[in-house]
Amino acid sequence: MSAHREAGFPTAARAALQDTQMRRNVRKATTTIRAKRERVVAELDDWEQLREAGRRIKERALRHLDVHLERLEASVTAAGGVVHWARDGAEAGRIVAGLVREAGSDEVIKVKSLATDEIDLNDRLAEAGIIAIETDLAELIVQLAPGDRQSHILVPAIHRNRSEIRTLFRRSLPGTEDLTDDPADLAEAARRYLRSKFLSVGVGVSGANFAVAETGTVCVVESEGNGRMCTTLPHTLITVMGIEKVLPRVEDLEVMLQLLPRSSTAERMNPYTSLWTGVREGDGPRAFHLVLLDAGRTEVLADEVGRQALHCIRCSACLNVCPVFERTGGHAYESTYPGPIGAILTPQLHGLRAGTTLPWASSLCGACYEACPVKIDIPSVLVHLRGRVVRQAREDGPRGKLAGERLAMGALARVFASPRRYERAQRLAAAGAAPLSRDGKVEARLPGPLSGWLAVRDLKAPPRQSFRAWWREERGG
Ligand code: SF4
Repeated sequence: MSAHREAGFPTAARAALQDTQMRRNVRKATTTIRAKRERVVAELDDWEQLREAGRRIKERALRHLDVHLERLEASVTAAGGVVHWARDGAEAGRIVAGLVREAGSDEVIKVKSLATDEIDLNDRLAEAGIIAIETDLAELIVQLAPGDRQSHILVPAIHRNRSEIRTLFRRSLPGTEDLTDDPADLAEAARRYLRSKFLSVGVGVSGANFAVAETGTVCVVESEGNGRMCTTLPHTLITVMGIEKVLPRVEDLEVMLQLLPRSSTAERMNPYTSLWTGVREGDGPRAFHLVLLDAGRTEVLADEVGRQALHCIRCSACLNVCPVFERTGGHAYESTYPGPIGAILTPQLHGLRAGTTLPWASSLCGACYEACPVKIDIPSVLVHLRGRVVRQAREDGPRGKLAGERLAMGALARVFASPRRYERAQRLAAAGAAPLSRDGKVEARLPGPLSGWLAVRDLKAPPRQSFRAWWREERGG
């Protein structure tokens, strides 16, 4: 079981590009969030210093991850919580299902959590006869549509417009036959349905934005208040957290809680910031379990360049500025983590192999790097991962397209290595292209696998005289 079902980005993107309604929805939403984010970021004179501080905090946390995780375990245990370690999604699923059963429940209410989406926790719980109810509005919308998947980190239902949501609610929520597509009415319908669940279900499941090693404090930020309900009302709270979310000190939150809301919802502060430390008599859940999830993260940590992907605080700013994401939407990434962060994180979590396509799902324009609040150099990681995929393919033995590519690159390398060969190639290209060119562009069709190249690009006709030839003529060099 895996959230990652790869048909390959080019194939999935081609299908997504045909969906004009989805593209309109995504463009409208990302343009709005992008403009708001720019405004709130511009309010801070020290934004660049904050970004650098965020980068350093994450780097330090990961450099001594083992130490911080053990410290976190000790702090949570001292505060009355129980820590569990899960190697992968299957183990995490078994642990959570066991805890829900122990708590005497067959339902859980959930706070929006990417870690649990990543490991298909809802499906795993369903197999154990436990119903997971998403309480974030967008997650609920996705859950109510059979076969639908999240398409954005922050706005999982960004691909849906309000009339589609009304249809879904009318079909699934009781008492909504006369529902309009007014946003306030839609929110009210969801609120009524969820309120009954908050008050009756005894187990809450959450992810974590951060967890502080020195105190054992877990932090969840959100906008709707549903997270606060799930983390305070049930008698048992289970948090599933990727091991990379640990922060060494409480002061680190000061930086992260400034960076995250501005970069995600474009707010100065999150409407709801819930912090809890273990359990407390008469206040909140009586039992707290923290499941620390690896699921490929230690493998990512082993790659000195690729490990930057673990610095991510899941703000989604990189998605909202990405020209590729704006056109394809999130489903084309076939992953819980779409957009630029998905292109570097997903293939690493699932293991790079020949044929992995996500590192190519980028124009390398660099907008993601400039937007990232913790300065993850996404373009450099993409290039690094492309190199790893190609090397892996070479190890598996050159075949088909790759063998052709290698031959072509080898020939080019020979031409570029010698000035004489380079100039001869220039003369040949100019002579060969002349009869095929019109208005300064080559108009011909290229043969075989190259045919797609000119179908979507203009190729400038080579000049009749090269710069070197002109220089020699003018200066006699
Ligand atoms: S990579 Fe950076 S910009 Fe993208 S979601 Fe993660 S923290 Fe945000």
